[in-house]
Amino acid sequence: MTGLLTETDGLPVAVENPAASSPVLLVCEHASRRLPEKMGMLGLSPEALSSHIAWDPGALAVSQLLMKSLDAALIYQRFSRLVYDCNRPPEAEAAMPAVSEVFEIPGNAAISAAARGERTEALYVPFRDTLSGFISMRKAGGRPPVLVTMHSFTPVYHGKQRDVEVGILHDTDKRLADCMLAAAEKTKRYDIRRNEPYGPADGVTHTLIEHGLKTGLLNVMIEIRNDLVSDEIGQRVMADYLTGLLGESLASLSQ
Ligand SMILES: [Zn+2]
Repeated sequence: MTGLLTETDGLPVAVENPAASSPVLLVCEHASRRLPEKMGMLGLSPEALSSHIAWDPGALAVSQLLMKSLDAALIYQRFSRLVYDCNRPPEAEAAMPAVSEVFEIPGNAAISAAARGERTEALYVPFRDTLSGFISMRKAGGRPPVLVTMHSFTPVYHGKQRDVEVGILHDTDKRLADCMLAAAEKTKRYDIRRNEPYGPADGVTHTLIEHGLKTGLLNVMIEIRNDLVSDEIGQRVMADYLTGLLGESLASLSQ
């Protein structure tokens, strides 16, 4: 293996349940806080490296439960967004952030163009190509996927408590998001909001644009407040809830 990743690091992208029967394709860009061994600790403390700046706690666990309950495919990035944030294009500053919330990231303070290129080639390009390859293959087989990207967010951001519990995010195509919000409204279960705590203006819809909008797929991004999915019980409750919302929404869209 050449470039950033070593033999021990393994592959950058994981694909689970590719032969799934459901059209849903789950994507988790911030699944892991793992760093490639060549990156060291980026100058950060173990505390910072296990916090939400390194990954989306709970997002992969909920995705894997949804993968089973829906019989859906799942594609995720195996390395931390601190090295490369796969929900950002290579030209974006936020793809390799020098500051994330209240943390400065010394290892990202002055990255050379060559090092940026190496990270992009090692993590972003294979992620993008795996996703687009999977979508093309399904479309060619007459089974266009439904793109569902899975994230979690911190309950306290810049010292401020967030009330929103689940965000249903979309860019210009809001077909699936509208159905999910309508289904959620009936349950009155969580504080669920449209395009909160982030929205398209924050640059968080890169994967939706690149792989959903450009290919015409139904798409949505789900943001879960991470204190709700910090243990297995919370993850199961959330996965059951989202299974219901997605199932109902897809049934109404296919009518
Ligand atoms: Zn995320």
